[in-house]
Amino acid sequence: MLSIEPIPAFDDNYIWLLQEPPGSGVAVVDPGDADPVIETLRARGLDLTAVLVTHHHQDHIGGLDELRQVWPDLLITGPADRRIRALTRVVGEGEQVRLPGFTTDFQVMAVPGHTASHIAYLGDANLFCGDTLFAAGCGRVFDGTFAQLAASLRRIAALPATTLCYCAHEYTLANLGFARWVEPDSPALLDRSAAAARQRRAGQPTVPSTLALELATNPFLRTSEPAVIAAAADFAGHPLADPTAVFTALRRWKDERYD
Ligand code: ZN
Ligand code: FE
Repeated sequence: MLSIEPIPAFDDNYIWLLQEPPGSGVAVVDPGDADPVIETLRARGLDLTAVLVTHHHQDHIGGLDELRQVWPDLLITGPADRRIRALTRVVGEGEQVRLPGFTTDFQVMAVPGHTASHIAYLGDANLFCGDTLFAAGCGRVFDGTFAQLAASLRRIAALPATTLCYCAHEYTLANLGFARWVEPDSPALLDRSAAAARQRRAGQPTVPSTLALELATNPFLRTSEPAVIAAAADFAGHPLADPTAVFTALRRWKDERYD
C-alpha cells in the first residue's frame, strides 16, 4: 500500500513523496527544488531511492542534479526528451515501472499537450499527472498541441472514477473561478468551491481529487456537456464541431481572459 504526501515547493508546487512500505522504498515526483526534499527526508532519517519525472519544465526537474549528488544511486525515470539530462532510465507509453523498495508497479501513460513529451504515472489507482490535469483545470499548451492535450485528458477521463489525481500545483481555487464562468449554474461546482475554500483557509492541500469529482466539475473534462459546449461556443463566436474544438475554445478562453 502506497503512502503519499505532498512536499510543498516554491509558491504553489507539490512534490509528491511516496513510500511503500514506510521506510523502505522512498520516491518523489517532479522535484523542482531539492532543498525541501532533502530537508523532509533528513528529518525522518529516510534515503531517497527513486524519482519520477513527468515533463521537462524547470519547476519539475530543477532539483534533480542536487538530489543525485546526495543519493548517487538514485533511479530517475522520465520521458525521452533531451531537455531532461539527469534521467537514468527513459520510460514511455505502456511501460510498467518497478521502483526500488516498492511493490506497486507504475504504469506510464503518454499524455502530451502541456508539453510534447509529458508523461503520467499510474500506480494502484493513484495518477501522478504533472501539469496535464489540474484540480478543476488543466495545464496550458506549451510545446504540445491543443488536440494532443484534449486527447490526453480524454484518456485520463476514461480511467476508473475512483482514481486519485495528484497534480503538481495548488491552482484549484483559481481554476474553480474559471469553471464557474463556464458553468455558473452548477451546484456541484458551488459545493466544490466552498469545500476548496475551506481547505485552503485551514492550510490544507486541495489535491488529490478523485476523477469522479473532476468529471463532475472540471470544464476541460466536460467538453461533451451541453452547458459547456454552449459557453465555449459563445466565447468562440461560432458553433463548435466536436469535443476537441470545445476544449480548444475553453483553453483559449482561460488563457486570454481569465489568467
Ligand atoms: Zn509544466
Ligand atoms: Fe509546473
